Formats: sequence, C-alpha cells, structure tokens
Amino acid sequence: MTEQIANQYSAERKFGTVHQTPDPSSPVWFHSQDISDADEPLLAPLLKNSFNCWVEEASAMTLLNEGTFVLCSKSGQMLALSNDGMGGLGEALLHEACGLALEGKQTVLREDAGVHVAALPLVRRSDGEIFAVLVNMSVVRHTASELEACGLYFRSWFYRKFEELYVRDMLLQQSKAEQEANRRESLYLVSKRLYNQIDVASVLSELLYSLEQLYPSSEVQLYLSQDHLNGDPRVKPLIFKNAEHDIVAKAFLNGQSVTEHDREGAIRLAVPMTGKQAAYGVLCMTIGPGKWDESELPAFMVLAETAGSAFENAKLYEQSNLLINELRLINELTKRLNQSLKLKEIFQFATSELLSVFEADFCCVLQLNKEKNQFVVMSSNFPSLLSEQFSPEYGFCGMVYRTREPMIISDYWHTRVVTSKLMDSSSSRSLIATPILVDGEVVGVILVTHKAPNYFSYDNYKLLQVMSTHIGLAVTNASLHAEVRRMVITDNLTGLHARHYLDEQIQRRQRKDPYGSLILVDIDHFKKVNDTYGHQVGDQILKQVSDIISTTIRKGDIPARWGGEELAVYLPGIRAEQALRIAERIREHVENETNPVVTVSCGVSEWTFEDEKVSVESLFYRADMALYEAKNNGRNRIFVGHT
Ligand code: GH3
Ligand code: MG
Ligand code: MG
Repeated sequence: MTEQIANQYSAERKFGTVHQTPDPSSPVWFHSQDISDADEPLLAPLLKNSFNCWVEEASAMTLLNEGTFVLCSKSGQMLALSNDGMGGLGEALLHEACGLALEGKQTVLREDAGVHVAALPLVRRSDGEIFAVLVNMSVVRHTASELEACGLYFRSWFYRKFEELYVRDMLLQQSKAEQEANRRESLYLVSKRLYNQIDVASVLSELLYSLEQLYPSSEVQLYLSQDHLNGDPRVKPLIFKNAEHDIVAKAFLNGQSVTEHDREGAIRLAVPMTGKQAAYGVLCMTIGPGKWDESELPAFMVLAETAGSAFENAKLYEQSNLLINELRLINELTKRLNQSLKLKEIFQFATSELLSVFEADFCCVLQLNKEKNQFVVMSSNFPSLLSEQFSPEYGFCGMVYRTREPMIISDYWHTRVVTSKLMDSSSSRSLIATPILVDGEVVGVILVTHKAPNYFSYDNYKLLQVMSTHIGLAVTNASLHAEVRRMVITDNLTGLHARHYLDEQIQRRQRKDPYGSLILVDIDHFKKVNDTYGHQVGDQILKQVSDIISTTIRKGDIPARWGGEELAVYLPGIRAEQALRIAERIREHVENETNPVVTVSCGVSEWTFEDEKVSVESLFYRADMALYEAKNNGRNRIFVGHT
C-alpha cells in the first residue's frame, strides 16, 4: 500500500480514529486505530458480532460453561447474552453492578442469594475510555483477576473484529477508488478516440461502441437534431412532439440533464450533447430498477459533452471539406466550360459533369429559343429527349421558368405537381432543377434526376444552383462570342465592316426606316497603282481611302468593304441628295489626301418606303450602275442611280 493511498484512506475512513501517524512501512499500522465517540452508532452491531464470535470460539472456557456472560453498552443497555442466562435470577444485581462499573470505571463484584455477579468495564486501548461492560453471572465465585482476564480476552476479540472491519472498509474504499480511476481512464480513452475521428459517421459509431462498453447493462439511445441517421437502431431523430412530457426534448431545449423514474423503478436519463456552437442531440440511458448509481451521472455527462464537441469538430471538418471540394469542383468546371465557346459543347460538357458530380441517373439541359418561345433540349443522356421542344409552360422546366427559382422534388410519384416527360419516360423519382440565368433572365433550365426517391440532399440542391451560375456564364460567353463572330466580322485590311454585315444592317434598316442611301466607292485605275507602286502600296492606299471614308461619315453610318478595291457606305435615313454631298466630300478628301494620290468614282442610290420593291440587291444594283456611269464619264466623279 503506498503512502498516498494510505493517507487518503485514513483521511476518508469511515470507522476508527488515528491516534498515531501511521507508519506505512509497518504492515500492522492499523493497530493504532481505535474506535471513537463518532463510531457510536456502528458500535453496537460490532460489539454483538464480536461477542457472539467470542462465545463460540471460547466455548470450552469454564467460565462460559459455569455461568452467563452479558454484554452491555456503555449506556448500560443489554446487547447480548452468552446463553439462556440465569432465568431472570440476579438481573437487578446485574444492572446495579453494571451501573457501578460504568461510574467507577473498575471491576465490580456482587453476590446475592448465591448468585455472583461481576461487571467488567471494557476500555478503549488508546485512551482508556469505557466503551462497553462485560458482566459475568455465575453460581460459582471467581476471582477478580480470573474475571478481568476474561474481560481482556473478550476485548482482544472485539479489537480483532474491529480491525477486520476497518480493513474491509478500507479495501472497499480502495476498490471504489479503483473503479473511479478505471472509469476516468476509460472516459479519457473514449474522449481520445472520439476526438480522433474526423467524420461524423465515425464519431457516432465510436460513441455507440463506447457506450456499449461503459454501460453494458443499460439501454442507450442517441437522439440527433440533425439528419445523421446511420442505420443503427440506437440513433434516432429528435422529434419535438409533446416536448413537455418528453425528457429527451426537454433536455435538448433546456440544455440540462433530465432524470425520470418509471413505475417499476427504472431510471431514464437524458443528457444534452452540446458543442461550443450548438446542441446536436441528446444521449439517453435507461437503467433497470436498483441498478443506477448516482455517482455515475457526472461521468455520463462528461461523456455527452465530449461527444458533443467531437461531433461538432467532425461536422465542421466535414463542412469545410465539402466547401473545399465544392470550390475545387466549381473551379474545374469553370475552367473546362471556358475552354469552349461552342454552345453545344458547353451543354454537353455540363450534362456529363452534372451526372458525375451528383451521381445522377439522368440530366437534361434546355435552352430557351426566344424567337420560337420554346425550350429546346440541347443536351441529355436520355436520347429520346434530344432536340425535343417544350412550351415554356410545360413540366418542371415550366415551373422553374415561371418561378426563376431552383427546386427539389424528393418523390415525383407522390408529389406529382406537374407532368414531366423526362421523369415519366426515365422512371425517375428524385429531381433537382435550376434555371440558367443570364442578367436575371431565364435562358435555360437544368434538370437532374434519379430513379430512387429522396436521392438528392439539400447540399446537392445548393451545389446545382452554384454550378448553374457558372454554366450560365459560360453560355453567355459562348452566345456573345457566336453573336460577335456572326455580326462583327471586321475586315482585316481596311478595318471596315464585312460585306455581309452591311447586307444585314441594310436589310434591318429597310424594315424600320423610311429611307436610306448607299454610296459605292471605287478607286480609279487601281490596277495601275498596283502596277506602279506594288501591291503593298496598293493596300496602303486602300487603307487610306477607307480611313477617309470613316472620318468623313457620321457615327450611325455603316462603312464596309464591298469587294477588292470597292468600298461602300450605307447612310440610314439619308436621301440621295444628301448622300451625293457626302460622296462628294469623300471624293474631295481622297483626291487631296491620298499619297500617292488616287481618285475615286462613286455611285449613289437610295430607297424609300414608297418604292415598289425595297431590297438590298436593287439598292446595290442601282449604285453599281451609277458607278459604272461615273467611270464611263471620266472617273473622279459621282453619279446618282435612278429607280
Ligand atoms: P477602274 O476601276 O478605274 O475602271 O480601274 P481599276 O484598275 O481600278 O479596275 P479593275 O477592276 O480593272 O481592277 C481592280 C484592281 O484592284 C485589280 C486588283 O489587282 C486590285 N485589287 C483588288 N483588291 C485589292 C487589294 O486588296 N489590294 C490591292 N493592292 N489591290 C487590289
Ligand atoms: Mg473595281
Ligand atoms: Mg477601280
């Protein structure tokens, strides 16, 4: 026994008094232990017990056979008899002698009618205080020393029993302390194991395993406020129905442990599982009648607290991991989406990416064709839907279009809010859908489905929403690019618009303007320029003339390269008369500003809403005719074509 433990037990001892500093090196240091006044309540049973044992052990002793021994407490109360006694004989004498012995603290001998009574005070070995009186009644007279020897004999028996009890008490304390130490040790191990887990599922299974080990005879349940059911029947969702009567809900809401006793005497204990940021659930234990030890509660609460923090840590870790993965995914998606400027390719890539990210069964990306007012399936892994068109009112696509919000359907078979061809023909039950928004306008819809019900999580739904933003951006890029390529093809050499752009613009203008004019500009004898100065200089001249045209006209006018060395300007809302003046300015500038000097001939034509037939071709034809006339009439001049 170590000094520390010995001290601990002597300080916490339940029985006996220390009168000397115990010497831990001596195996019998407890000999110096003694009963004290505080032990009074425990004394009587100990006295009785040691007396009975003594009587049995010392049965051969003459004194025991010849008479009767009576043990009295220090208040004179009879505690035990060695045999049936004297049949009431000498009882009064017994009390008298006992009283006197207690008073005088010495042996009292009395005799009456042939009955000899001897009262022997029993004193404590440490301080000589009387703790009981041993009385002998006999018809035989014994000497005082004989009787006192008997008294000492009994006292040594008593102290043997006392020491036995003392040691037993100590051992009990020790085993309790060991138990406590073991519990602390296992709690420490459980905490360590719990904190070692980095994902929520492992924290839960570790917790359940530990509970099973720590409380093998109890029934343990774990109620979780969040969706982390792991298939274990001991893990249950926390439901707040009847919160007043339900100790689990009460413990969760109040953040304190709640105990409940049932009629059979079983105990139900609910302890909240709390982290630093929130409560995550309730740990609940049911213990059979009589099995609950109140001293277990603190340890159980520590366990619940540890579980709460471990759960929280794992959850935060999981969340940050999810976020990192999400960011990584989006980064990758954006990178790959931006590699292509072809819409079709983007839709196809988005479809395959969405299918793999969500491990979904089907995906369908639709684009709104504004002219036709129809949603067109641009890409899908469900072949029969490809190139299908749907009205903007139809199906989930229609719902998303109307609400401009993403949506999640956990079971289409049960909540058939709309009819969906995709869901029906692919036998899908789960759906997440989101609009593709560009500048706040729905330009398309993404539908992702799975055959199993309740397949998609809220996190999936949020992620799809984020992904759709990036898909939307890619769509915008691609659309813009396509548009730009189609519309703004700039001629490399002159920097003017391409011919088809001019055609388109004139066509457009002819639909809404009342009139407009066209000037065709052709460099005179350009062949000669090329021949004289070379093609490069020819190109420079072409550029000079183009620049002159660009600076001479107004902002809304559209200059273009019509052919090799033929340039054209369309003047919206301008009549031929004014166009002539503009052409004249161009002609003058060219003549004065080009180097080497060249001249140009121009043909002007106009159209008005009054024309029988308005067309780009006829406008060009007439300008060309006028140009021809200008050439024929000496060049460096302008002619206006007639309708
Ligand atoms: P005109 O119009 O006065 O009747 O005589 P021209 O010599 O200008 O007419 P023609 O149609 O016979 O020749 C046009 C020439 O323009 C032929 C071609 O070599 C030249 N040309 C066309 N495109 C380019 C170009 O991009 N760069 C250069 N350097 N020359 C070009
Ligand atoms: Mg020409
Ligand atoms: Mg020419």
